Order: sequence, then C-alpha cells, then structure tokens
Amino acid sequence: MLLSTDIGIDLGTASILVYIKGKGVVLKEPSVVAFDRDTNQIKAIGEEARLMIGRTPGNIVAVRPLRQGVISDYTVTEKMLKYFIRKALGKKTLRKPRISVCIPSGATEVEKKAVEDATYQAGAREVSIIEEPVAAAIGSGIDISKACGNMIVDIGGGTADIAVISLGGTVVSTSVKVAGDDFDEAIVRFMRKKHNLLIGERTAEEIKIQIGCAYKRPELVAMDVRGRNLVTGLPKTITITSDETLEALREPAMQIVDAVHNVLERTPPELAADVYDRGIVMTGGGSLLSGLDALIEEKTGINTVIAEEPLTAVAIGTGKFIEFMHGQRDVE
Ligand code: ADP
Ligand code: MG
Repeated sequence: MLLSTDIGIDLGTASILVYIKGKGVVLKEPSVVAFDRDTNQIKAIGEEARLMIGRTPGNIVAVRPLRQGVISDYTVTEKMLKYFIRKALGKKTLRKPRISVCIPSGATEVEKKAVEDATYQAGAREVSIIEEPVAAAIGSGIDISKACGNMIVDIGGGTADIAVISLGGTVVSTSVKVAGDDFDEAIVRFMRKKHNLLIGERTAEEIKIQIGCAYKRPELVAMDVRGRNLVTGLPKTITITSDETLEALREPAMQIVDAVHNVLERTPPELAADVYDRGIVMTGGGSLLSGLDALIEEKTGINTVIAEEPLTAVAIGTGKFIEFMHGQRDVE
C-alpha cells in the first residue's frame, strides 16, 4: 500500500496552519501575500510577505486575502494554498494527499466552493470542507460524536465564530465580523480620541497583548506607547493603563458577548441545558485577550474556559476530522 498523507489546513484570517497526521502542526504563517501592483505578480507569501509590509517600494503591496473571513481574492487564495501545501509536504510525496480545510461558518456557498476548487488545484486527491466550530471542538478534545450540546467560541483576527454543536454537526451558530483586528482598531481610535495620539495597528496589537483587557485586571498594569501627536505632528510617548484599554475594548467585547447570547437564545432547551452543565470553550488567538473569558462568564452565567491549545486547536481538529469521518465510514 502506498503511504498517503492526511492534511488539515486552518485557513485563518490572521494565520494559516497546516497539520499533518502523525506529525502535528508543521507550519504556521501569517495569511499575507505580497504582490507587485504593476505586474500583478506574487512576490512573497506568508512570513516573508509579512516582513515586507512597510519596507518595500511603493509598487509592492501586501494583502491579507482572507481578511474578515471571506475569500476576497480567489487566485491569490489558490496560490497561497498551493504554496503552503508544498511547503508543508516537502518535495517527495508518494500520493496526492487527502486535505480537509477549515473555513469560518459564515462563509457563503460560493466561498466554500472557491476554497474546495483551490484545494483540488493545489494538488489534493480528496477535499473536505469543515466548519470552524466543529474543528475547534475536536481540537479542544471534545467528543463531538455524542448527542450532547457543546458551545464553542472561536475568536480569530477577522471573525468570531460561535456555535453549539452536537452529533458532529453545528446546531445553532453565528459568525460576526468582530474579533482580534477590531480590538486593535478600537485601541487606535481610543488613543486618537482620548490622547490625540496616532498609533499604528501593530502598536495597538502590542498594547492589546501586553496590557489589554475585557474585564478589570486584579492589578493595574501600564505601558509606554509611542506615537505621533496629532496636534503638533511630533513624536510623543505617553503611558497608558490596563483600565484605559478596558474602556477602549468595551464595545467590541460586548458585541461578542451579544453574539454568544444570541446563539444561546436560539439553542434548543435540551442542548442549552448541556451547555450550562458543560460550560463554554474558547479557542483562537482573540480568546487570549485578558478577561474576555471572565466577561462572557459573568454575562451568561456559564462557566467559560480557554482551550488548552487555543491557537492550534482548529488546525488539529481539521486534521483529525478526516480520521473522524473515515472512522465513521469504516464502521458503516
Ligand atoms: P485567525 O484564526 O483569524 O487566523 P488567530 O486565531 O490566529 O486568527 O488569532 C489572531 C488574533 O489573535 C489576532 O488579532 C491577534 O492579535 C490575537 N492574539 C494573539 N495572541 C493574543 C494574546 N495573547 N492576547 C490577545 N490577543 C491575541
Ligand atoms: Mg481561526
């Protein structure tokens, strides 16, 4: 028998992860593509492209083709997929791989089809498209084959996917375009309004990761932030505190809480009871915002925990989904 490879790809808006059965997550790179505006040629993909941002001549632009969870540019998505699959597999492959790809649950049928086609084009023998919350659940160690409700809240860069799943499928879900990037943007706006300071999104992300919070931290933390004074036009450094980020992040954080409420309201009573018993599991980089779990727990009254491997759960779950499906098929 020829060895075949099973691959799971997490097509995130911020990063792309590739999981290979038996090897684990072998690749994690930013979902960025740099191309030449004049010739439309791709110059770099992934980490290499990210490093080009802001450091290249004007004709080279870096785009995030999956921003906001939509496949905004089909050709670019295809090239990007091809590149990552080749890079993850290396040169010597005996047989075309079986690939499962995870896309946000809010994706349209057209987008799903686009990803499927792009994956075949990229060299897959068999393609399965899997919904993000199902992948996140498998990757968090939840047994999705049981008739029992589990709520997953996956917060990425562009979208927050919230779902109640049971028996391997999504029962109720929503996908909102409020996630990590919006936290950064909220911090940029806050700094401009409250401090007349212009900062970039990279700085905003640093603030978010270092001192940001969605729930009051037990101890106040502060950080020096450098930006441009909008009044004088000159560089300026100010100190901001975690309590200020709480104010800055209140709106997007509450939008996510509202989305969780919305899904709970639409959940059939038996499954809702399961969720109350078992709690909410959070995945994705956005779930690492300090206190977001506490905020959700306070507003819903449901015990909320962050998955053990929040950043890789979706990729692992996507890879394992193939085994799950084939397991089912073999049993049948
Ligand atoms: P996607 O699935 O959309 O590719 P990820 O799950 O990789 O997204 O999450 C990316 C988001 O997580 C980014 O907005 C990033 O700033 C945020 N993030 C990563 N680590 C942290 C952290 N420690 N605290 C807060 N946000 C974080
Ligand atoms: Mg994700």
